[in-house]
Amino acid sequence: MLRRWAEAPLAGVDLTLIVDRPGAVYSGMVPGLVAGDYRREDIKIDVAALARSAGARVVEAPAISLDPVERRIAVAASSSSPRVTAQASGSASVASTAGATVAYDVASLDIGSTIRGLELPGVRELALATRPIGDFVRRVDSTVAACMRERGAAAVRVVLVGGGVAGFELAFTLGSRVRGLGGAAQVSVVSESEQGVAGCTARVARAILREAERRGIGVVCGRRACAVDGAGVRLAAGGGAAQPPLQNAMGARTEHQPRASVAAVTDSPRIDADLVVWATGAAAPPLLAASRLALDERGFARVRATLQVVGHDDLFAAGDCASIDAMARRVPKAGVYAVRQGPILDANLRARLTGGPLRDYHPQRDFLAILNLGERRALATKWSISVAGRVAWLLKDRIDRRFVARYRAAGQPLRRIL
Ligand SMILES: Cc1cc2nc3c(=O)[nH]c(=O)nc-3n(C[C@H](O)[C@H](O)[C@H](O)COP(=O)(O)OP(=O)(O)OC[C@H]3O[C@@H](n4cnc5c(N)ncnc54)[C@H](O)[C@@H]3O)c2cc1C
Repeated sequence: MLRRWAEAPLAGVDLTLIVDRPGAVYSGMVPGLVAGDYRREDIKIDVAALARSAGARVVEAPAISLDPVERRIAVAASSSSPRVTAQASGSASVASTAGATVAYDVASLDIGSTIRGLELPGVRELALATRPIGDFVRRVDSTVAACMRERGAAAVRVVLVGGGVAGFELAFTLGSRVRGLGGAAQVSVVSESEQGVAGCTARVARAILREAERRGIGVVCGRRACAVDGAGVRLAAGGGAAQPPLQNAMGARTEHQPRASVAAVTDSPRIDADLVVWATGAAAPPLLAASRLALDERGFARVRATLQVVGHDDLFAAGDCASIDAMARRVPKAGVYAVRQGPILDANLRARLTGGPLRDYHPQRDFLAILNLGERRALATKWSISVAGRVAWLLKDRIDRRFVARYRAAGQPLRRIL
């Protein structure tokens, strides 16, 4: 929406971007960063610069609540007021800051999601969570290095909690990173899903599990992590003993990362770990519950197909934070869906400001997903067909670099690492 606004601003409208941090991380390249394919600056989009190029005023502070009736957004301020880094020079003001409040006529919430289970014991303190993704990216290199130092010649035990596609991608790439740095890694994934990999077809899950097996990655299927402690991950369990190995989608034993690493601790089994990565899938950001909005059963903002929040024609929501009535199941919390809502959001914000008709968003039926497997290999899947190898990685690299380049302000060249 910001890029389109930069290309074709709407006369007489003041645009304000409220953002908690000026740089956004492009999540599709995060596994590549973990694998060592990219540097941090390669995968960042300077959202504040993009907004300024669209003539927007940038308020650099987290929004904490929104009042859709009064049309005000409360913004956290470190001192008395948020940091305003640029001022738009529009002719008619439709947004203004008053202390830590931003008033609006038309607004859109695009605040993404947080991650499930952060409130569980030890998770915030001891695990490396994938959200906020900027913090993950900032911490991952030093955390891996510290684990390798601590373990010396012994294998670094990495446990990924969350059996979604992103969790598996990180399992592959973390293992490959440690090996690339000259160490040894023992990687396991704890998945709530009985088929081992959540959020994809059984066929794709089988392809991912085949790759995991080839790489010696242990997959604990159908189990939920309930805590993280100094020794590793505790699994929720009915009894006090370790559970027998479960079967994965390939029919293979799934607790196959040395059985000895699953031990009974008090009343729940535990997987020993030096590094726990928490990648459990999307949860609603707290701002939504703090605002007077219609929410779905998971706490995401309910919107219509036009991306207007239910009950408020002048408030929109898009991407992970939105739950589209009647199609929530068909719209997973994934960037490929969020991105395609951008043009609809742009068109409908303009329509709302100028009085034109609004358009409906229609989710794509399928999309090309390419998982980074580390070692400059990737697994490409579409229509339940999957192909793994170097060519898939090259294709992903090309698509991802092009994507970031589209939103990159001039003067920020992307280094090519091949
Ligand atoms: C490790 C990982 C890998 C992934 N890989 C893929 C992939 O390959 N393909 C794919 O389709 N999806 C992937 N996803 C999912 C994808 O990241 C999300 O679906 C996508 O980013 C959602 O886009 P969004 O614009 O809704 O939110 P986000 O991209 O999260 O953007 C939200 C923005 O709002 C800002 N913000 C948040 N709260 C506030 C606040 N209170 N005030 C002000 N600003 C705020 C954030 O800093 C951020 O800039 C991955 C996710 C993870 C964690």
